[in-house]
Amino acid sequence: MAEKTYKYIIIGGGVAGGYAAREFVKLGLQPGELALFSKEAVAPYERPALSKAYLFPQAPARLPGFHVCVGSGGERQTPEWYPANGIDLPLSTEIVKADVENKTVTTAAGVTYQYGTLIVATGATYIDLKDFKTPGADAQGIYYLREIHEADVLVEAIKAKKGGSAVVVGGGYIGLELAACLTINDIKVTMVFPEPFCMPRLFTSEIAAFYEGYYEGKGVTIIKGTLAAAFEKDEHGHVTTVQLKDGRSLHADLVVVGVGARPVLAPLKGQLKEEKGGFQVDGSFKTSAQDVYAIGDVATFPLKLYGDQRRVEHVDHSRKSAIQAVQAIKAAEKGETVDEYDYLPFFYSRSFDLSWQFYGDNVGESVVWGRDGASAAKSKFGAYWVKDGKVVGAFLEGGSADENKLLAKVAKEQPSVSSKEELISAGIGFASN
Ligand code: FAD
Ligand code: NDP
Repeated sequence: MAEKTYKYIIIGGGVAGGYAAREFVKLGLQPGELALFSKEAVAPYERPALSKAYLFPQAPARLPGFHVCVGSGGERQTPEWYPANGIDLPLSTEIVKADVENKTVTTAAGVTYQYGTLIVATGATYIDLKDFKTPGADAQGIYYLREIHEADVLVEAIKAKKGGSAVVVGGGYIGLELAACLTINDIKVTMVFPEPFCMPRLFTSEIAAFYEGYYEGKGVTIIKGTLAAAFEKDEHGHVTTVQLKDGRSLHADLVVVGVGARPVLAPLKGQLKEEKGGFQVDGSFKTSAQDVYAIGDVATFPLKLYGDQRRVEHVDHSRKSAIQAVQAIKAAEKGETVDEYDYLPFFYSRSFDLSWQFYGDNVGESVVWGRDGASAAKSKFGAYWVKDGKVVGAFLEGGSADENKLLAKVAKEQPSVSSKEELISAGIGFASN
């Protein structure tokens, strides 16, 4: 027996959930129509802050400062915003079961709710080294970062180990952003990752060499081409040493692991079609089940621009997919449809004084420009990716807001280019022309 019926239920109070709530309000919502269930204890917030300003030693970001939708220049939806807009926001409430036949969801406490339309916005979770059975991976002092409660634990560990040493496992987004945050907190960092250079899924070796050099200049030691194979603990169960696969061992007062994320499918596993690790959706974010939508990290959607299906684990897509899904839901209620989602991939990162943006697709031949002149003091350089004679991807370190807009334009319009040399000599000028 359902406790209550909602016209709309959102599972997951992260970025996508928060932006979806805003779009419902924008398009017209009656009190009591929407419930947003979140496993976290706080209202939706801009998750990117957790690996950046939240960890700063001075003037760190704290809630309520970065609730959604401030990250895209929107209104700050404090916990009071939800009831003020007639939205129920059960926090610390995990949905453990959903039934798409009977259109119900059930909380961990065993309470069942009926929905008219369901939006799955459960995001992703970190990959845990315990899953690989890495010996000693259960030691205290090994940290992961996805949610704010994990960031709080990390903040305390950083304070306690000030002046000590850390090993950062992984050379992706978390690895690079956390290595920088730990360094500015006066912790000596060694990064370890298996690939020949950092961020290999996006960077070329030439791009990576700049960031690795910059990090080394800040005192970070980088060990590549090997893995954290085991952890040793002291008599209290706290990590002391990281054993690498190549036989080396590193002392560690704390360890931060960022070896990837996996989408959270659990409450709907087996009931929705899956593709590339996520729930398969159409250009309106509708899943294979009637009246069930999936948005954000958990959705594998048609990427119209490239004619394939992708899952994107970045904040810009989580916001835009939420808006698209809610617009589609509201349009369908009026017997209308919306244009298919037409997404231009956008990724970015910030660490130390650095800030890069990337738009488009990193396929084909890469052409790096301005790299020779880039240094710690003057770090502007970029890259284009060229496929079939057209520019399909653009990267820029140290760009201004206007220049970054040009990157987006070039990646979307895919202009033809006659030679590599043209891109190298024009640099950002190619995008502005
Ligand atoms: P999430 O924001 O993860 O939200 C999912 C929510 O669902 C969580 O609150 C979770 O607790 C909840 N949930 C899950 N299962 C259940 C359940 N069964 N019941 C109830 N609630 C549930 N991207 C960028 O582009 N730039 C960045 O700088 C950047 N920085 C990041 C920094 C960190 C530390 C992390 C972890 C990610 C970062 N990302 C960044 C990625 C970006 O934050 C994600 O792509 C985005 O948050 C995805 O939004 P989402 O709503 O799909 O998932
Ligand atoms: P990433 O996938 O970015 O990076 C993980 C890296 O760790 C990969 O290079 C991976 O290599 C490597 N790796 C895998 N296994 C091991 C291992 N055993 N030891 C050492 N390295 C290993 O994931 P993150 O963990 O950095 O980020 C988690 C999530 O958070 C992602 O969804 C990411 O998009 C998001 N995030 C995004 C940010 C941004 O956009 N600025 C900032 C912070 C987080 P391989 O590729 O070979 O598997």
